[in-house]
Amino acid sequence: MNSTKPRLFPTGFEVHKTPMTTLSLPPGDWPTMEPGWVWLCGAGPGDPGLLTLHGLNALGQADVIVHDALVDPRILDWANPAAERIHAGKRGGKPSAKQRDISLQLIDLARAGKRVLRLKGGDPFVFGRGGEEGQTLVQHGVPIRIIPGITAGIGGLAYAGIPVTHRDVNQAVTFVTGHDRTGGTTAVDWASIARGSQVIVIYMGMSNLAEICADIMAAGRSGDEPVAILAHATLPEQQVLETTLAKAAEDAAKASLAAPAVICIGRAALLRQALDWQSLAMGRELRDLDPLGIGRPAEDG
Ligand code: SAH
Repeated sequence: MNSTKPRLFPTGFEVHKTPMTTLSLPPGDWPTMEPGWVWLCGAGPGDPGLLTLHGLNALGQADVIVHDALVDPRILDWANPAAERIHAGKRGGKPSAKQRDISLQLIDLARAGKRVLRLKGGDPFVFGRGGEEGQTLVQHGVPIRIIPGITAGIGGLAYAGIPVTHRDVNQAVTFVTGHDRTGGTTAVDWASIARGSQVIVIYMGMSNLAEICADIMAAGRSGDEPVAILAHATLPEQQVLETTLAKAAEDAAKASLAAPAVICIGRAALLRQALDWQSLAMGRELRDLDPLGIGRPAEDG
């Protein structure tokens, strides 16, 4: 018999299986995908449950799905089984000529009268070249719809128990790429970001991590400042490294953390000690309910 007592924090990370038939959309008006259109859609950071309902609606209608390496295969399993799947496998560091090929392929597919779903990791407009892709499409007369997604720099942090804003920590957050058009970090004004943003969330920063941390410290941020690095965030293979600005590059190498990873610099990372809900769900104690040392209830004042 099922216990009727609510269990807020089950021990073990429990899941329940949902049969495929219940995956249909809730009642309502859902946009229809017309032939010749391309829908640029974010798939979220990894965990398939973070796809939006508009994304699910698109998966059910598309004739062709052109997806990134970062899109979880379980999400593609929700597509119409008749849909063609094309892996556009761009991975950091490759020259951008490939990007143009992807866009041109989308144009060809649309012109062939297909309903095209371009599925990208996270949000299509956050360091995902969705803006460029969308522009190329409309410049060629192909109509588009944009479906936002949960970006790794917000959703990934949330899964690790790190709020991107918190009144006792920051009034601003900066999302920045650690890998610009040149493959380096020269286009980024790290000194201004270090001075102007208490919390810095870096995408694609792993290969330049040592240089980035050095630039941020050179601009006056303390080497003791907390840093959290989240690899494969929101997925079962998620790894979270808690370190400091001075030690981040060395610790990341020791832990063999690999891309995709987001890096969170700032005191927000400390809040994981209180908000690591995944550990809680696995039956562990939270480490510190007041990691900022505020000494009053979190919502006082
Ligand atoms: N459009 C995506 C970002 C694409 S750039 C978004 O909105 O999330 C690719 C970078 O995103 C990776 O190098 C990494 O920094 C980050 N990223 C994407 N998925 C991630 C994940 N599951 N865990 C950690 N970082 C991730």
